[in-house]
Amino acid sequence: MQPAIIRAERVEKYYAQPSENRIQVIAPTDLSITAGEIVALLGPSGSGKSTLLRMLTGLSSPSAGQVYWHERPIATADVNVSIVFQSFALFPWLTVLENVEAPLKARGMEPAERRKRSLKILDTVGLDGFQAAYPKELSGGMRQRVGFARALVVEPEVLFMDEPFSALDVLTAENLRSELLELWQKKTIPTQSIFIVTHNIEEAVLLADRIIVLGRNPGHVRTDFKVALPQPRDKKNAAFTQLVD
Ligand code: ADP
Ligand code: MG
Repeated sequence: MQPAIIRAERVEKYYAQPSENRIQVIAPTDLSITAGEIVALLGPSGSGKSTLLRMLTGLSSPSAGQVYWHERPIATADVNVSIVFQSFALFPWLTVLENVEAPLKARGMEPAERRKRSLKILDTVGLDGFQAAYPKELSGGMRQRVGFARALVVEPEVLFMDEPFSALDVLTAENLRSELLELWQKKTIPTQSIFIVTHNIEEAVLLADRIIVLGRNPGHVRTDFKVALPQPRDKKNAAFTQLVD
């Protein structure tokens, strides 16, 4: 078996309540992300997908259990991941090129090199010629392309995406999704693995090698989980893993 880039061992998340009751959002969960795969985390709104993503990226710590980055506790590791958000989260006062350069600038890369890298990735995501535009001048789909470029420019080991197509109209979402898959299959995306959060089962089936399903009620494990799968267009058989119901 491939070694895991990220591995979660019995992670749980509780949120404190004013009443001192704790709400369990994630029941004890094991999962791993290895090189070369696209993993989808599927579940309805409020099922804890973003909470799990935040723990897997080291943005928040689990209430119990541990997340490992190359087998080191993630809190002490040199983590190389990027996140693409549903809301794009671009800097409105910066041009497309400046948005994409921003993470390289933060890492102290010198201007000529970061410009070269940024222009290359903008070309990859279909934004050649848009470098001087501001986000407000772009359509939603184009803005999310900038989001992808900014995430990929640092060559993250794992590219995380939290409902990246949910804010887009159906056609735009479909186009972006299939372009992403094509780039991935041609190995033109500078990342080892993709972890995509979605509530869209078709999207999960189309993109993922492996699907992890979060149910609505954490802590309650349902054993009779069945899903009628449409025939995946580009991938043969996405394997399902059910975590909690
Ligand atoms: P999803 O991304 O699947 O929609 P979330 O991970 O955002 O779900 O949220 C899961 C549950 O945890 C929801 O019921 C949400 O209200 C709750 N929740 C999320 N963040 C917090 C927080 N910081 N404090 C308290 N409750 C939270
Ligand atoms: Mg969410």
